[in-house]
Amino acid sequence: MKIIPMYEDQKIILTLKEVKSMCNENCPCWGKNITHPRICPICDYIFKGNGWDGIDAHYKARHEKETGELYKDWWARMCSDHKTKR
Ligand SMILES: [Zn+2]
Ligand SMILES: [Zn+2]
Repeated sequence: MKIIPMYEDQKIILTLKEVKSMCNENCPCWGKNITHPRICPICDYIFKGNGWDGIDAHYKARHEKETGELYKDWWARMCSDHKTKR
């Protein structure tokens, strides 16, 4: 994101937006220190492919019933930090 220096308060708004895209308590990976390889935040399963490859099938098969939360809802809570397919 390009930050154009303007008024001070506008800079603050941009900073807040950036903070929001970082990991937060709403993210399933919050507090789990998940970097690389990606690890299932629920059962510690290690994803051996690229980033989160297979997480949808894994979550649906192993956790959807248990958590009662649909995969798309669960994934939507993932912060953009953790969502990246790296
Ligand atoms: Zn996160
Ligand atoms: Zn799992």
